[in-house]
Amino acid sequence: MSRIRSKNTKPELLVRRFLFANGYRYRINVKSLPGTPDIVLKKYHTVIFIHGCFWHRHECLRGKMPKTHTQFWEKKFTRNQERDLEVRNQLKMMGWNTLIIWECQLKPSRRAQTLEEINYWLNEAYLNQFRNDSPTPHRKVLHSSREIYNQEEDSESLLAAEDFPEEEPII
Ligand SMILES: [Zn+2]
Repeated sequence: MSRIRSKNTKPELLVRRFLFANGYRYRINVKSLPGTPDIVLKKYHTVIFIHGCFWHRHECLRGKMPKTHTQFWEKKFTRNQERDLEVRNQLKMMGWNTLIIWECQLKPSRRAQTLEEINYWLNEAYLNQFRNDSPTPHRKVLHSSREIYNQEEDSESLLAAEDFPEEEPII
């Protein structure tokens, strides 16, 4: 296993609680899709991975290369990164958008903005399904400072049209 995966980690729960509270319905840890995405939003053709900065080598302080056993870590990280890329490509070919949320984007000081951007991104992915000529968005990072429009009304209408309600198994 090149990925360390623990179920129901706190960052995952944060995102899931937010999504659920905003009317999104989803499946979790979907084994039938490449990479077993943490969250799958069928209606939005979007899968979400919550990545640990260390294991997936984020360009932040938490993703820094350890100072000892460098070769060992280098090899491990390279494998993780290659696998992430491969999973992403497979999902893309299957018509899924992939959204990567980094652990550090969910720390208290950045959490609110990150969650709002997820909301924005999902709405955009949803709308893009109806635009024949434009590909769905593939953003790698969420922390751009672009304007967030007020989407409360949109969220409500999406909730009303939700077609696969599922209970959220938060423990
Ligand atoms: Zn990070």
